[in-house]
Amino acid sequence: MIIGIDLGTTNSLVSVWSGESAQLIPNALGKVLTPSVVGLDDSGQLVVGDIARERLQTHPQLTTALFKRYMGSAQETLLGHRRYRAEELSSFVLRSLKEDAERYLGEPVTEAVISVPAYFSDAQRKATRIAGELAGLKVEKLINEPTAAALAYGLHHKQEATFLVFDLGGGTFDVSVLELFEGVMEVRASAGDNFLGGEDFDDALVSHFLASSAAEGLPDVSGGALAQRLRREAQQVRHQLGQQPKALFTVRDQEREWLLEVTQEDVAKLYQPLLERMRAPIERALRDARIRAADLDEVLLVGGTTRMPLVRRLVAGLFGRIPAMQLNPDEVVAQGAAIQAALKARHASLEEVVLTDVCPYTLGIETTRVDKLRREYGIYLPIIERNSVVPVSRVETVYPVEDDQTVVKVRIFQGESRLVKHNIFLGELDVPVPPRPGGGVAVEVRFTYDINGLLEAEAYVPLAQQRYTLVIENNPGVLSQAEIAERLEALGALKVHPRDQQVNSLLVARLERLYQECLGDLRAYVGDLAQDFQRVLERQDERAIREARTQLVERLDQLERRL
Ligand code: ADP
Ligand code: MG
Repeated sequence: MIIGIDLGTTNSLVSVWSGESAQLIPNALGKVLTPSVVGLDDSGQLVVGDIARERLQTHPQLTTALFKRYMGSAQETLLGHRRYRAEELSSFVLRSLKEDAERYLGEPVTEAVISVPAYFSDAQRKATRIAGELAGLKVEKLINEPTAAALAYGLHHKQEATFLVFDLGGGTFDVSVLELFEGVMEVRASAGDNFLGGEDFDDALVSHFLASSAAEGLPDVSGGALAQRLRREAQQVRHQLGQQPKALFTVRDQEREWLLEVTQEDVAKLYQPLLERMRAPIERALRDARIRAADLDEVLLVGGTTRMPLVRRLVAGLFGRIPAMQLNPDEVVAQGAAIQAALKARHASLEEVVLTDVCPYTLGIETTRVDKLRREYGIYLPIIERNSVVPVSRVETVYPVEDDQTVVKVRIFQGESRLVKHNIFLGELDVPVPPRPGGGVAVEVRFTYDINGLLEAEAYVPLAQQRYTLVIENNPGVLSQAEIAERLEALGALKVHPRDQQVNSLLVARLERLYQECLGDLRAYVGDLAQDFQRVLERQDERAIREARTQLVERLDQLERRL
């Protein structure tokens, strides 16, 4: 049996073809959405999903999220004593989904179809395959997320169709224009914003709350547990406002309570700038695909954040039609992956062609910023912005800052941070320049990035009419077979947290988080609940544990409603 997997930035899902339809497979907690969060527990075992998400706040050094953003790069994340690459962290999620599928199907699972964003580069696709391999899965095929959504909607049964997929997830926004023609799905264009999603709406609501008089006297929230709690509350309020005209934004700290009533009108205004940002990528995708909105056969809504009525309304307005949204938007990609897996098993999988390719990262150089009073070193100057359609060539002019400088070091980086030290170093070019007073010589730095991920950096000094070039194979990303084998061995030693304990562990993690969040009497109360539950767990009486659990969930739900 080949399974279909949606390996998402925020949530991941696994699905399987039942013979008639794509069935989503529940995890050990009975949910089909597994948060893409991983970590190590106190005994060094792997935890994945909701438990890890609870621990994100209580054990930040042992837990991590959003690693899909680093796929295909050499960026590593420290967890406990070791650094992990994005493929390794992703493999933990895949391992967990594989286990859920095996439990559900009652047989070993070794093959999968995994979905990837349409804009994923060659390096990012390779990294996804390696993640599968590290999880003990043979990746039969990668499917583009918008294509998977189209399959879930059965569009492949049509003769010909042109449609747009609008995917707004937890942290990313992707627009793709697809064309089905003679049994081949072509991704004609893709555009989007890697930093626009549900979380940005939540940040906007948190800022609104903090700026209101309702937040007066609230302790400092920069970073830390309180900031997390505000975000969580903002998300809850956002979800509620999809269904009801108003909601209460509530924060409790020690014995004090801060309340703000928020209405649908309030958030409509607040979210407006974010909604506005969706316009440009849509226009760009249509333009790149050379198609008018009126010529689209369908518009599909994908991603959990498209559950927001405001987003649906925006899309309906922009396209002058009701988009397709009969299926759950956060489940369609996984369903499509399972359909592709079933087609694959019958040697009939849908062929795909991606016509566009984009440079998935920003590429730039190190500069020094000089103003009247001081110099700031190590500032990143982007040359090719991320999501530029490739091949692309851009130039920026820089000037040596020191007097009589004879060499300019052009240090090349990949990444999105303002400071180069947080970005990935790719290489450097020493450019000799004629000595002049500071700022007196121009150096034109041109970057050219092509489909194969090759970056050519060229520095031209007009004054000397000299040209210097450096070619960087921009795959610091891809692991070699030997490295994969080595990592496979290292990861093999890592045990997965026992599945049958997950329901209890989730509660323990939740108690821990609440203990951290509460103070005073409330904290003591949570402490007592935790101790009581621990005692019941130690008795190892299944029935008693089940009863205690039901009661505890009820109490914690009640408590969290008050928080
Ligand atoms: P990704 O593709 O990024 O992994 P999803 O498609 O699962 O993620 O989307 C996750 C986002 O969906 C979260 O930001 C969450 O707040 C949002 N979401 C889920 N359900 C709702 C809802 N009912 N109303 C508004 N937003 C929702
Ligand atoms: Mg998604």
